[in-house]
Order: sequence, then structure tokens, then C-alpha cells
Amino acid sequence: MSERFDLVILGSGSTAFAAALRAAELGKTAVMTESRTLGGTCVNRGCLPSKNLIEAARIVWEAQHPRYPGLRPARIDIDFNELVRQKAQLVHDYRDRKYRSIVEDADLIKVYEGHAAFVGEHAISANGRVLEADQFLIATGARPTVPPIEGLADVPYLTSDLLTSGEPQELFELPGSLVIVGGGYIALELGQMFHRFGSQVTILERSQKILKDYEPEVSLAVTEALRSEGVNLVTGVAVRRVLQEGDEILVVAERSGLEQRFRAQRLLVATGRAPNTDGIGLDKVRVELDDRGFVPVSDQLRTNVPYIWAAGDVIGRFTGSQLATPVGAHDGGIAASNALNGERRAVDHAVIPRTIFTDPQVAVVGLTDAEAIGLGHRCWCNTIPVELVPRAGAVRDTRGIAKMVIDADTDKVLGVSLVMRDAGEVIHEAAMGLRLGATIHDFIELVHVYPTMAEALKIVAISRYKDPHKLSCCAE
Ligand SMILES: Cc1cc2nc3c(=O)[nH]c(=O)nc-3n(C[C@H](O)[C@H](O)[C@H](O)COP(=O)(O)OP(=O)(O)OC[C@H]3O[C@@H](n4cnc5c(N)ncnc54)[C@H](O)[C@@H]3O)c2cc1C
Repeated sequence: MSERFDLVILGSGSTAFAAALRAAELGKTAVMTESRTLGGTCVNRGCLPSKNLIEAARIVWEAQHPRYPGLRPARIDIDFNELVRQKAQLVHDYRDRKYRSIVEDADLIKVYEGHAAFVGEHAISANGRVLEADQFLIATGARPTVPPIEGLADVPYLTSDLLTSGEPQELFELPGSLVIVGGGYIALELGQMFHRFGSQVTILERSQKILKDYEPEVSLAVTEALRSEGVNLVTGVAVRRVLQEGDEILVVAERSGLEQRFRAQRLLVATGRAPNTDGIGLDKVRVELDDRGFVPVSDQLRTNVPYIWAAGDVIGRFTGSQLATPVGAHDGGIAASNALNGERRAVDHAVIPRTIFTDPQVAVVGLTDAEAIGLGHRCWCNTIPVELVPRAGAVRDTRGIAKMVIDADTDKVLGVSLVMRDAGEVIHEAAMGLRLGATIHDFIELVHVYPTMAEALKIVAISRYKDPHKLSCCAE
């Protein structure tokens, strides 16, 4: 049986949904396909469940480690199974409200279950159904990579899929101890979360420092924050092999030429994300991939085949994109408009704020110092400790830094990096500033609410002209 649509979408994640909704707005029919769970990674096993459990872990940790003299530590008993149950319920409710009901209410959008693959130039097949169209969108997302570590195939290991609901990979028991291979954002977020729930956590990062694409001050501040609360963060370590020893997993690694061994009840592999582009028949339509399997696209999100588009995690860093939900959602709509309406809209990935939900949070936008210099800017940049922000002192949480990068000739702000509480909220002021071409003076002259963490932006800007240690309250 074959059916015809204006747009056939491989995947049903946030990128696919944005594209399908845009198609419907244009009065066109669209079909999504899903081999796993409607809604994709973010709602089912990424953003939503991780942020739900990270916040629960923060509550547990703060009760045990109050920042205020006069507040005594309190122990919160953890029923991990119940926490997992509420997480599943939350995901279920959210998926119903934000994904399933939207499809049910839309006449022009359909979703079919099944693994989709191209079977002809203008046809895919999913679960025995053939879906035909003039235009196609690849929005199949990414999955955890499995590195070639000796012995890994012979031991049980977790991936970030432990956050999923109703799939066999879901984790129901809190590990007593956990070794995490990898030191990217998922490893850091989940590592701190498990540590705060009471697991003994070791994070093994191959590079000499974590978050090496971020400002060095960011890496240092996060390293300090995690180590000071007891996470065993080991850098410059290469994992050589893993094996089961009794009830534990033994990780044999090499650090500075010496063998080091780490043991834990559970192993979590968090070494990055690989695109879901294998097994979808791209050879049939001659869509080209890069050497890691990501789909190269033009700035209009067109692949090398004129009627096939791609967006979301599956395009990796092409067009300066980021593997993040709002980027895919933004681009999915653009891809659909370009495919169906003959528009020639280019994506603009110059200003993408990003957050790592550790505590303190990391939030960045724009260029790093090194990137700005690499692009030929004459830079001024400065970093202030968050202890200079009145709000941080008032609430007794002075961890972190704020860094601003500006073009010294035009005074334009090029980038901001924050490590502090609420950084993920504050970064939007910086992002809007960058979008509107703000200069350092805009950040100084904008009256900021006192005392808020957003004042970090004003203070780091002022530090170009004055010693930020000698400011009075909110004086400029
Ligand atoms: C642990 C974790 C935490 C995260 N936290 C955040 C966060 O806080 N903020 C943020 O912005 N981003 C976060 N992300 C990233 C975010 O989840 C992704 O960037 C986003 O989900 C990508 O959306 P997408 O639609 O491109 O792909 P996906 O959401 O992965 O959707 C693709 C869908 O396609 C399906 N599929 C694949 N192949 C086929 C096929 N052949 N046929 C049919 N269906 C197929 C997949 O099953 C999947 O459901 C997190 C990710 C993880 C893993």
C-alpha cells in the first residue's frame, strides 16, 4: 500500500514536529515516521527526564549541605524507584500534551510507526507502508556512540538511554558506585546527579581538561565545583579495556604512561553522539554523508540531493549548528518552508545560547576568546569571579566566573561565558545583546535589577574601565 504526502519526514523528534507543523500551516500534508518513541530524544530520554532528576538531586544535596550557618543538614531518604516512576509519568504527560495530542488534532499531519528507509528515489518504506512525496526531510537525530574499548561488548554498560521510560535500557536502581567514560556535558550532568543521589562517581575524561571547546576559565570553574563536592573527576586518562570482576566492572586505563584501575558497580559510557543515518537507504538516493555519518547541508538545509533536506542532530555541526532541541525545532520549520514553499531561507546559527545543567550551570553564547582572535578580531576580554556579584554573596553561592569577549575596535560584544547559579536564564540577556549587535556600553548602561545574577554581565562589562572589586552596590 502506498500513500502520498507533500512532505515525508524520517523521525518524529522536535525537529520533525516543527517541520510537520510548518507544513500544516502552509496547508500541506506531512507524515512523520518513528522507529522508537513518538517525540524523539528530548522528551523521552534527554532534556526532560534529565532535568527532572537533576533538580531532584539538587534538592537532596542542598538539604544535606545547607549554605547557611543556622540551617542544619537534613537527610532526605531517596526512593529511587519512585523517582523513576514520577519521571516516567512526567514524560508520558508531556509527550501526550506536546506531541501526541498535536498530531491527533492536526488533519494534515500523520505519524506512522516503524523504521523508515528509502526504497526508491521518491519513496520510503516504514513497517510495510510505502510513503511517497516530492520532498523529504531527514530528521532521524542521533544516538549514544559506543567507543571501540576492548571488552565493552562483554560487560553490561549504561548509556544516556538510562533516562528512557518503558524501554529495556531504563535504570531503576541507584548504583552504589559508577564509573563514567567521557567528560562531555551529558557525563557531567549525570555524573553530578548520581553523586548527589549518593553514588560514588568517577568521571574519566581523555583530554587534559573537560569542556575543551569552552573557555579555559569555564573548564576550570566546573572542574573545581565538581571536585569540591566530591566527584572523582580524572582527566588525561585513556580507557584501555573493561572487564567484569565479581559484582563490579573493572576499568583499566592509562594516565601519564601509567596503568590506573577504576572499579564500580555500574559503567556509564557517555562519549558522544552518532547520527542515525545508517540503515535508512541513503545510498538509494545518493545522499552524501561526512566521515562520521552526519549529513552535510547547505545553509538552506538542503542535502546534495535537491529534494532531500536534513535538520536537527543529524546534521551535526554543519552550518554552525548545535545538537540541541531548540536549534532543531527552529531549523525544522525553515527546512519545511524551503521544501514546500519555494522559500530560500538560510539558517542563522551565529547566536545560539547553550547551557550545561550542572550546578553551578554553564551558559555560553557567541565566540570564545580564542575563536574571536582566530577570526581576526582585536579582542578585549575579561573574567570576573562570581563572588563580585551581590546576589551571589547574598545567597551564599559564590561559585563560578563570568567572562566577556568584545571587539576592542568596535566595542561590540562577541561572546559571553558564565558559570554560576541561574546561568541558563541569564545567558538570554547576553544572547539578545549579541543578536541586536550590542556593545559593552549597552550592558553597562542597562539598569539591571538588584540583586540578580544578571548583574554579572554588567559587572564584567564595567571591568573594562574600572576595578570591579571597588564598585559600590550597583554603581556604574
Ligand atoms: C541525556 C541528554 C540530555 C539532553 N539535554 C538537552 C537539554 O537540556 N537541552 C537541549 O536543548 N538538548 C538536550 N539534549 C539534546 C536533544 O535531546 C537533541 O538535540 C534533540 O532531541 C534532537 O532532536 P531531533 O529531532 O533532531 O532528533 P531526535 O529527538 O533524536 O529525534 C529523532 C527521532 O528519529 C527516530 N528515528 C531514527 N531513525 C529512524 C528511522 N530510520 N525511522 C524512523 N524513525 C527514526 C528516533 O527514534 C528519534 O525518535 C539532550 C540529549 C541527551 C541524550
